[in-house]
Amino acid sequence: MFEDNYRQRGLRNKLVKKLLEKGICDQRVLAAIGKVPRHAFFDDALLGHAYEDKAFPIGEGQTISQPYTVAFQTEKLKIQPGDKLLEIGTGSGYQAAILLEMGAKVYTIEYNRKLYERTRDFLPTLGYEPYFFYGDGSKGIPAKAPYNKIIVTAGAPVIPTALTDQLAEGGILLIPVGDRERQKMLRITKVKNELKKEEFDSFAFVPLLGDQGWK
Ligand code: SAH
Repeated sequence: MFEDNYRQRGLRNKLVKKLLEKGICDQRVLAAIGKVPRHAFFDDALLGHAYEDKAFPIGEGQTISQPYTVAFQTEKLKIQPGDKLLEIGTGSGYQAAILLEMGAKVYTIEYNRKLYERTRDFLPTLGYEPYFFYGDGSKGIPAKAPYNKIIVTAGAPVIPTALTDQLAEGGILLIPVGDRERQKMLRITKVKNELKKEEFDSFAFVPLLGDQGWK
């Protein structure tokens, strides 16, 4: 049904090199990008683009994030094997696959019903099995909290308090915050119930919808 041949592996290695040149230096992140078959997430018509460092449409007006963005967020999360992680915005499932490759235990939530169903049915066929949830992730998933790591893969207008509330001690929330077009990547670390905030580069994500997202 899906093939991973030397050609695709070659393209994937090239992508890894490009990410290294762009400043991604965590070897474990690069190894995960080198392992997950990104072309399996693409429709036939776009297959030739799977290993370009670009975002692409995945239907329902949504996108599979640019590999650089996925690598950047993953690196900043400082994933440790066994981390309990919540991902807001399952989308194609590519980011979740990378996080699983790195040994995180992944809870992922998607607000678009069709995407949720599609990825829930598809991702396990590649051997990646996060816990899938359908609903408004701007509220987190309180029933499964706390999390060591939370990653938001859609652009938020504010930092949802529900998410910082669901962070474990020492936990990290990585979230792009800004206006609808552009967002600054923020890293919030919870230390002794205080929130430490760091700011990184700007990115362009699709909007985070829902209660603590865009209306
Ligand atoms: N992580 C994805 C990127 C998906 S794009 C990947 O690797 O492909 C962002 C996704 O966030 C979209 O699928 C969108 O439907 C979803 N989204 C937007 N608002 C959301 C919300 N409040 N809760 C959960 N998912 C949301």
